[in-house]
Amino acid sequence: MSTYRLNRVPKKITPLTIAQLTGQSQSHLQEVFPGHFLHRDVVAPYRALIEKAAEEGIALRMASGFRSFDRQLAIWNAKARGERPVMDSEGKLLAMALLSEREQVFAILRWSALPGASRHHWGGEIDIWDSAAVGEDYPLQLTQEEYALGGPFEHCSHWLGELISSGNTAFFRPYKGSQEDGVAAEPWHLSFRPLATVCEAALTPGVLRKLIANTDIYLQGVILENLDEIYSRFIRL
Ligand SMILES: [Zn+2]
Repeated sequence: MSTYRLNRVPKKITPLTIAQLTGQSQSHLQEVFPGHFLHRDVVAPYRALIEKAAEEGIALRMASGFRSFDRQLAIWNAKARGERPVMDSEGKLLAMALLSEREQVFAILRWSALPGASRHHWGGEIDIWDSAAVGEDYPLQLTQEEYALGGPFEHCSHWLGELISSGNTAFFRPYKGSQEDGVAAEPWHLSFRPLATVCEAALTPGVLRKLIANTDIYLQGVILENLDEIYSRFIRL
């Protein structure tokens, strides 16, 4: 039996420092499973969610929790250099070399956050899947098909949707894909609202401008030129 209520929320979340907010510090984190870290105030609510899922035969697993600025920067630069595939909103491979630099920036942002602006830096954002629904060597992809009707994680996704709309959890799904030119829908991405509210307020365009200006990042000039648009389309939800 769970010893804590599913929607148990810490009394008060201490605002993150700029370094914590942007993935450059791990001092707010606790290791939940080997190699997987979450904000210390999110660990108990996440464990409670796992227990609740287990009652439905769902083995909730974390594909990704905290992600550092350096990791996000490596992903960004690999995509900008063409070393890592960039997909369009339908999941089809894009020919990056044929796009303008501005188009390249917005193509990457459809599926990958700007370093410093990834919600995964906060430690309260979790990409989940259900290991009870697939075989041991299932190659997890985190695609919309996997979570849709007929996909292996349909049950898990439906259960989560019901739980969220019932109001009995502090987790929610920030990426609904409702804005056509913003971040694509991510049914696997959960956000812990009490922490997210604090972080969303702290992550201003000014914070990001300063960070990007001081970072060795591909497409830096175009990012800075378009930062206000990037912020309103991809960062502010
Ligand atoms: Zn995610």
